[in-house]
Amino acid sequence: MNASADASCALAPPHQRFRAGPDELRGRVVAVTGAGDGIGRAVALAAAAHGAQLVLIGRGVRKLEQVHASIAALAGPEASIAPLDLDQAVARDYDQLAHALRERYGRLDGLVHNAALLGALAPIEHYDVPTWCRVMHVNLTAAFALTQVLLPVLHASTDASIIFTSSGVARRPRAYWGAYAVSKAGTEALAALLAQELESSGARVNVLNPGPVRTRMRAQAFPAEDPRTLPAPDEVVGPYLWLLSGASRGVTGQSLDCQAGR
Ligand code: NDP
Repeated sequence: MNASADASCALAPPHQRFRAGPDELRGRVVAVTGAGDGIGRAVALAAAAHGAQLVLIGRGVRKLEQVHASIAALAGPEASIAPLDLDQAVARDYDQLAHALRERYGRLDGLVHNAALLGALAPIEHYDVPTWCRVMHVNLTAAFALTQVLLPVLHASTDASIIFTSSGVARRPRAYWGAYAVSKAGTEALAALLAQELESSGARVNVLNPGPVRTRMRAQAFPAEDPRTLPAPDEVVGPYLWLLSGASRGVTGQSLDCQAGR
């Protein structure tokens, strides 16, 4: 490594330069939404590779089964599959998930809100109202409802970490990003106020912006972009592992970027 690379590494914040040890998450129970694809899948696999017991939440059972099989091949703790369509789920579905988690693990140490929809890229003047409602519901309201119902099991942990996934357009809204941008701005607000509410309980709440990543959602938003110019999902998981691990104990109310300068 040359001197300038050394200097830029030294300047990188701890979440961006974190390298998880093999057993960094051993003994921790971690739930990830949208665990069947994209960044959620990569976070779930990486957390399992570092010893966590995973609860794979998502709407497509087949994809979750594939992730479950990949985790089984790591020979770590067995993962659980929790089918939950955040667009359709009602109170009973959330309660059943919380009950199953309490019965099986007794606590939850990490909750990664990752599942999201892009919706339409369209001017507000013409934005389809049902699409708006669906995006706001999946991206924001469902994350609120899931957090609320899982707070008792999170409080049963001695070091609970809740992570919300945001986007660059939450902080710098851009024309035509409609409900997606607004839902992510709401996510940042939800995380910030929840961090304050939970401060005395010891549970921490933070936000990660993955930056541009080679996934289906990114291709939907930027169809003309060459995906080879983007990092793969497993290249942005480091900050998620940092926030899920004891290395970030005491960090709360932060909104962080996974990638430097993006
Ligand atoms: P993907 O489209 O690859 O993955 C989205 C995930 O969310 C999938 O697992 C999907 O499930 C799940 N999901 C969608 N709708 C529902 C639903 N109704 N119920 C349950 N799960 C659902 O996108 P990314 O991996 O790119 O996105 C992950 C997160 O990162 C999102 O919060 C996104 O906003 C954020 N992000 C991504 C960026 C990027 O460049 N990729 C940039 C900035 C932020 P299924 O596979 O069944 O569709």
